[in-house]
Amino acid sequence: MELYNLKHPSQKVSFKEAVQLGLGKDRGLFFPSQIPVLDDIEGLLALPFVERSKKVLGAWLASELGQDAVDELVERAFNFDLPLVAVDEQRACLELFHGPTLAFKDFGARFMAQCVNAFVGDTRLTILTATSGDTGAAVADAFYGLEKVNVVVLYPKGKISELQEKMFTTLGKNIHTVAVSSDFDACQDLVKRAFDDPEVRDGLSLNSANSINISRLLAQICYYFEAVAQSKQRHEADPVISVPSGNFGNLTAGLFAKAMGLPVKRFIAATNANDTVPRYLDNGQWQPNPTQATMSNAMDVSEPSNWPRVEAICEKLGWPLSSLVGIRLSEEQTSQALAELHAQGYVSEPHAAIAAKALSLTLVPDEVGIFLGTAHPAKFKDVVDRELTLNLPLPPELEAVASKPILSAELAADFAALKVHLFKILA
Ligand SMILES: *Cc1c(COP(=O)(O)O)cnc(C)c1O
Repeated sequence: MELYNLKHPSQKVSFKEAVQLGLGKDRGLFFPSQIPVLDDIEGLLALPFVERSKKVLGAWLASELGQDAVDELVERAFNFDLPLVAVDEQRACLELFHGPTLAFKDFGARFMAQCVNAFVGDTRLTILTATSGDTGAAVADAFYGLEKVNVVVLYPKGKISELQEKMFTTLGKNIHTVAVSSDFDACQDLVKRAFDDPEVRDGLSLNSANSINISRLLAQICYYFEAVAQSKQRHEADPVISVPSGNFGNLTAGLFAKAMGLPVKRFIAATNANDTVPRYLDNGQWQPNPTQATMSNAMDVSEPSNWPRVEAICEKLGWPLSSLVGIRLSEEQTSQALAELHAQGYVSEPHAAIAAKALSLTLVPDEVGIFLGTAHPAKFKDVVDRELTLNLPLPPELEAVASKPILSAELAADFAALKVHLFKILA
């Protein structure tokens, strides 16, 4: 598989190199030189998830890694269910939160960890990543205990739920966590600066593990195929898929799936008040506002890092950007959406509820819609209990960490301080 740097198209790398580098020169994103197109989609959709995923990922990776290696990566990474649960006549939720950290990020993080582990050789790697919520837990869990990989996770102090925080800050061993006194964009900026600093980047063999790593995006393509496979067993129509979006990795993967031949009627990019993309789709002006804190905090991103890939796919395939529908929901609408779903017998959480509501606002009769359930409702217990007057039980995964102490260091959003800290804990 060949990829090129979207900022410097002459920089070309293999999949292995792209996984290890994370980002290209000048922080450019890697993008595939070619998007494989699958034939016999119907036959593929008839296969079970793991078998189908081997073929979907094999189309990208078998030429470089061999199909056997791809099969092994898939088997190790994808070992949990993803049911499509009907909510009403038109809408169903693809529940992507049955993995070890109860969020869809387990798919990308587990596949990436398997890739890194398979490619690492003799160096000792440092995974440095910023999280606005669930990435941290998924990455920490996926890499926990691997001997040649250290993980450092930066997160905005006080801006994620306590349970979310406990899921990745209580592990110890090779998992190091830093609470930064600022917002997610500041954390992301610190990560970018670390990658730009040769002393840090080379001295600690940095690798990034957030949604910019191409291995994560390829893994995420697989569940779009599963969504359509299950939907087609109930409805003939090609589904509309609504994606709760923050950094837009999830939507990028969906567009890759469609580019490979998956029948999706259209995609909806659903956001909270951090609505840079919906405004851009409306008026063509890219004008990020300061990041606002919302109930759907994993989507509190005003400068989504994967957006250049979304544009690159559309450009390559000749899809006008106007084929994407951008929907923004206020906090009040998010509350309403949660309550409406609950009234229909479905307990959701703020991220998925936004995507569900975006379907209600835009589906026409005879269309069917899928919204992506990106986190288990219990991960957002505070909000869900408050909004729905419930007392959700904690699933066992959360119960186990709730009583453990947080092991994070605390730092200001200051690159010099971070640099000192990194060398202290890792050198
Ligand atoms: C990360 C996350 C999102 C946003 O996904 P992106 O790929 O960053 O757009 C949505 N919901 C939840 C629960 C998340 O953790």
